[in-house]
Amino acid sequence: MSLLCELEKRSIDTSKANFIWFIISFISKCKISDCHSFEGTPCLEWKGTPNNSGYGRFCLTRNYIMRAHRASWEFFVGSIPDGLVLDHLCRNEICVNVLHLEPVTIGTNTRRGKHCWKSGLRKIPDCCTHGHKYPENLYWTSRHTIECRVCKNISTKKSRKRIKLLC
Ligand SMILES: [Zn+2]
Ligand SMILES: [Zn+2]
Repeated sequence: MSLLCELEKRSIDTSKANFIWFIISFISKCKISDCHSFEGTPCLEWKGTPNNSGYGRFCLTRNYIMRAHRASWEFFVGSIPDGLVLDHLCRNEICVNVLHLEPVTIGTNTRRGKHCWKSGLRKIPDCCTHGHKYPENLYWTSRHTIECRVCKNISTKKSRKRIKLLC
């Protein structure tokens, strides 16, 4: 169901003026992340307390609470087609940057999740096995697995040195 229908059903004022007010209050609760980004744009992180699943919660009215990333999509892109969920491409659940979201089927979302989290990892760890911090140093491979950028650089440098020595 579209946000507009949902609001009308709850007899919430859907006038343009009220909508602008929703958007202003929404924006005031976001901040541009200084360490999380995806494909060149920073994450837009929710400042409020996340829910149990780690998603931001936006209180549209006192008794209508939406997931912040879904609200963001509804406000700045349009309605989320029925049956689709928004997948966080940046893997940062509190992010509401619409450039980091993609509507996908629940099946795709689960598959991606399974595909992404190597050996059953449900969450990205805080750092790599060598202690380099994630997600600053996180790197997604084309196989949708995670790698540490620092470790990768070190191993590339080492192999370059080896080649030099051999030459
Ligand atoms: Zn993001
Ligand atoms: Zn590392």
